[in-house]
Amino acid sequence: MSVKVMIPTPLRQYVGNRDAVSAEGRTVDEVLRNLASANMQIKRHLYDEGGQLRNFVNVYLNDEDIRYLQRGQTPVTEGDTVFIIPSIAGGSTGLASEFTYDDIQRYSRHLLLPEVGLEGQRKLKRAKVLVIGAGGLGSPLLLYLAAAGVGTIGIVDFDVVDFSNLQRQIIHSEKDVGRKKIDSAEESIRDINPTVKVVKFEERMTSDNALDIIKNFDIVVDGTDNFPTRYLVNDACVLLGKTSVYGSIYRFEGQVSVFEAKKGPCYRCLYESPPPPGLVPSCAEGGVVGVLPGIIGTIQAMEAIKLILREGEPLIGRLLLFDAMKMKFKELKLHKNPQCPVCGENPSIQKLIDYEEFCGLGRGNALSDELTITVEELSRKLNAKEPVVLVDVREPQEWEINRLEGAKFIPVNELPSRVSELSTADDIVVYCKGGQRSSYAVRFLRDIGFKKVKNLTGGIIEWVLKVDPSMMRY
Ligand SMILES: [Zn+2]
Repeated sequence: MSVKVMIPTPLRQYVGNRDAVSAEGRTVDEVLRNLASANMQIKRHLYDEGGQLRNFVNVYLNDEDIRYLQRGQTPVTEGDTVFIIPSIAGGSTGLASEFTYDDIQRYSRHLLLPEVGLEGQRKLKRAKVLVIGAGGLGSPLLLYLAAAGVGTIGIVDFDVVDFSNLQRQIIHSEKDVGRKKIDSAEESIRDINPTVKVVKFEERMTSDNALDIIKNFDIVVDGTDNFPTRYLVNDACVLLGKTSVYGSIYRFEGQVSVFEAKKGPCYRCLYESPPPPGLVPSCAEGGVVGVLPGIIGTIQAMEAIKLILREGEPLIGRLLLFDAMKMKFKELKLHKNPQCPVCGENPSIQKLIDYEEFCGLGRGNALSDELTITVEELSRKLNAKEPVVLVDVREPQEWEINRLEGAKFIPVNELPSRVSELSTADDIVVYCKGGQRSSYAVRFLRDIGFKKVKNLTGGIIEWVLKVDPSMMRY
């Protein structure tokens, strides 16, 4: 009968640095004695002068301690695994209670690392990490944190898997389209590591629930894609004294940092306030290359694991910039701003605020009714042949996918230099994909004297949904 014997780290040097060897025998005792006679050096570590197994060596057959079976006489069968567990300086091994035999196998490459080892694996198992967003960044984050053995993983997400997510959100599969992301993500985590406890928050994170959600976790990893949530997560983490791992992506570029307000700057020290709505397109509007969140999310996972292990140098006070096209990393120093409104010396923000409003997305900042038009109303006007000048402020590659008939194409950043192509006498309707960039354009045109300009609410996506479903959606 040939069985596998797992060799603990301190004894590997006696068996050619292997973590497992095979040995013959019908009982555990025979297997170990055969192992010892084939590797004379290991013998004195396993057996005392009287030939008895040393009492600081515990032996497991699969996941059972042989002292609770038939000790050395426990029979073995083909395919069994014998595990030698010497006691570890400083107390009981704790192995039996905290890790199963499967766990030891699963994490064996971690256990080999002096920076992780059993103690580090224990820290990972006890860690509670909250991942906000089960999308592009959340996908590699959740998969790697689960695979690494982070014991409790919280997920905040209220979205549903869409076909357009599959290009980068690798935690979801085609069969998951239409399902809640949080359920699909949980299933993928279970497939990789069923020992992880998944805590699901199927809701949008808001000022009302953020502190309650975050307070039970050690580390927060921010995988969000919008400014209100990003400021909310930052402020909540500063107020609760939690560390957050920040990551953001756009087109071919990414940023990563670690914010721990006690030791370094926070997100507000970096960017005190967000850009005006519509100026910086989201990934849904500006696009993102599929591999990029894989790279940035994986770096975030690495930082989270280092923080849990308390090993290495975290990105505190440093902003890592990644440019996929140039394939270059660049690092900038970040300084704590003593005047930071949330982590500074005299913080003005001592409780969570209205982040939609703060980011210019609240109702107070919305375009007034006379500056907007619904898709139904526009459709009626066009059918009635009313004179309307349509202006499409999207990018050329979006224009290639779909467009409204007769529209004038002026990408939003070309608008200031091409404004002479438009007349203040015309009724103008501006549209983009979802209505953000066009609202920025409408404000701009209003400010320079266009009085008859309106924003198409919901953009061309809304038009496809409500007016012309035969058009291509993206
Ligand atoms: Zn700050």
